[in-house]
Amino acid sequence: MSPHATQVADMLIAIGRRIDARGHAPATGGNYSVRLDDGSIAITISGSHKGRLTRDDIMRVSAAGDALDGKKPSAETLLHCLIYAIDPGAGAVLHTHSIAGTVLSRALAGQDHIGLEGYELLKIFPGIDTHATRVELPLVDNSQDMPAVADQLRPLLTAQSPLLPAFYIRGHGLYTWGPTAEAAEHRVEACEFLLSCAWEECKLAGATR
Ligand SMILES: [Zn+2]
Repeated sequence: MSPHATQVADMLIAIGRRIDARGHAPATGGNYSVRLDDGSIAITISGSHKGRLTRDDIMRVSAAGDALDGKKPSAETLLHCLIYAIDPGAGAVLHTHSIAGTVLSRALAGQDHIGLEGYELLKIFPGIDTHATRVELPLVDNSQDMPAVADQLRPLLTAQSPLLPAFYIRGHGLYTWGPTAEAAEHRVEACEFLLSCAWEECKLAGATR
């Protein structure tokens, strides 16, 4: 590993510990990546526990998702590649699995977005400077066929202007990204917080109906 790649791996290891501590990386769920200077991608390998990553659990893939170092990429590497291809400003992508997001997205069966409105933390998204707004997080159905998931997502993401750096796969998990790993981590925290709020409000509405 080059010194830069080692630095990136150590950063992903630290991020994994923090995300796991928040309960957003159960079992081997989730995956994290950083776009490197040469356009290749450093990404967590398939099947690793994100709270217990070691440098060996980080691999390099090409922009097309092909392994560059003989390790096995996760099937979801394709979605990271899609994000980097669509958003030239994406420097890091983080994918998390939380209870609130999973349950809320399943409760919204048939919907193609998760509406988030009136929350202060919406200001985490680019171009938003007030809570008095509504954001619609694209929501697509889960599948083990990742090219099919990517096909659902591509038109939803490319139709946005400006592009919202987050989407949700129903019953599965959140993808969010940013120019740096630090920015992406802030967005994970904000999005998971917002999904928890939305789910709690959904429950409250059900209880008071
Ligand atoms: Zn996943």
